[in-house]
Amino acid sequence: MRKTKIICTLGPATQSPEILQQLILAGANVFRLNMSHARHEWVREMIPRVRLLAGELDRPVAILLDTQGPAIRTGDVAQDLPLWVGDQIEFTVKEAPANEKKSVSVNYDGLVDDLSVEDVVLVDNGVIRLRVLSKGDARVLCEVLTPGTLGSRRHINLPGVKINLPALTTKDHADIALGIELEVDIVALSFVHQRGDVDELRALLRSQNSHAQVMAKIEDQSAVRLIHEVVAASDAVMIARGDLGIECPMEDLPIIQRKIVKLCARVGRPVVVATQLLESMIQNPLPTRAEITDVANAVFEEADAIMLSGETTVGRYPLECVRVLNRVAERIEASGGAGYSKEAALTEARQKTVAAAVLLANSLDHSHLVVFTRHGTMARYASNFRPPRSTIFAFTPNQQVQRQLALSWGVYPILTEFAEDDPNVTIERAQKFLREKNLVEAGDHLIVVSDSLAGKKRIDTVQRRIVG
Ligand code: PEP
Repeated sequence: MRKTKIICTLGPATQSPEILQQLILAGANVFRLNMSHARHEWVREMIPRVRLLAGELDRPVAILLDTQGPAIRTGDVAQDLPLWVGDQIEFTVKEAPANEKKSVSVNYDGLVDDLSVEDVVLVDNGVIRLRVLSKGDARVLCEVLTPGTLGSRRHINLPGVKINLPALTTKDHADIALGIELEVDIVALSFVHQRGDVDELRALLRSQNSHAQVMAKIEDQSAVRLIHEVVAASDAVMIARGDLGIECPMEDLPIIQRKIVKLCARVGRPVVVATQLLESMIQNPLPTRAEITDVANAVFEEADAIMLSGETTVGRYPLECVRVLNRVAERIEASGGAGYSKEAALTEARQKTVAAAVLLANSLDHSHLVVFTRHGTMARYASNFRPPRSTIFAFTPNQQVQRQLALSWGVYPILTEFAEDDPNVTIERAQKFLREKNLVEAGDHLIVVSDSLAGKKRIDTVQRRIVG
């Protein structure tokens, strides 16, 4: 059983029930809806469709709603603007009229104040590179350093510049309200700058009675600088390499990735490595050797999940991409991981109980961890220790917790009822289920982490049982 989870971003290439079904069967664990592009009517169609198919196939699949966040974008241009080295282009704010022949509006009024002469401005995923020549009232004049063609609504990055936009824009609020209504499992917050941004989203979700998890997207220098507080505040973390690779020096990207993966291993937060894992497969049926090696590196680092974006939204080979990830992940997992979880900080008593269970499972051949978890916490503790051989069978009575656990490394989440008056009944029911589904064999060791009754008191226990 593959331990690294696969996230597929949905788009025109993957919206049909037929493809979705094949993606689930090929091993997609989480579907991402990117609100920078997704329309509300489309999201309203997709979520029930995914849930229906996942139910029919009996596979837990989580839905991740990814906010656009405080992104700076250019406005519309009447026609694409070709920009050559040495050309001048003007950005205007507050609906200022164009002064230059090549001019485009920007959705961020603070642009003029935030930029200084000589600052670098990157447009369209960093493809077009500009230098600020001068600033005027409601306009910034730039010189083109790297050429390109500027279309409408292109993303602007200002590396190292502190942007004064709210963590959640009006659009984010509307998108999150939709996510809450449709009970998405995880909400990803784009351009997190500090822990307060994560806290704000969590407070919003809880105020609306949503138990969705909060995933912080690390995509600029501010988040990297405050990484400890941001990770501590979040339920999960995404290394959003698309923007991160523009906002930070590109040669720092592998170092930042490793630092964040290690930190998440230490403090026990699921971590996702995202963007351009199989970029060439948007067009080609086979990946490059470099892409295979990048995927292998993320799997070796024991990230919880690896994420496909353009490959599955508009790519020609979405299914093949999932198959490639599956194949590389299985192979690399079998060859051993980086072992960063050895540094996992043991802070909670219950975490130490799980650590004891994992130690026991690691010492026995043919062993499986069986964790009973109401909120997913004990299962995530087990996952955090990255047991190399044992699958973590996580039994939970909560459907959303089951789906959320689809993100966690090595966890096989199963929905079950808990017998409230006798935990032993629940354990025996689970054991029967695993046997019937051929997930375990007679003679295997089950290392069970559950409640047990001591008189009338419930206590955490670790038990070893043998499959009969
Ligand atoms: C990224 O920048 O890598 C990313 C995942 O974010 P988005 O796709 O929203 O730009």
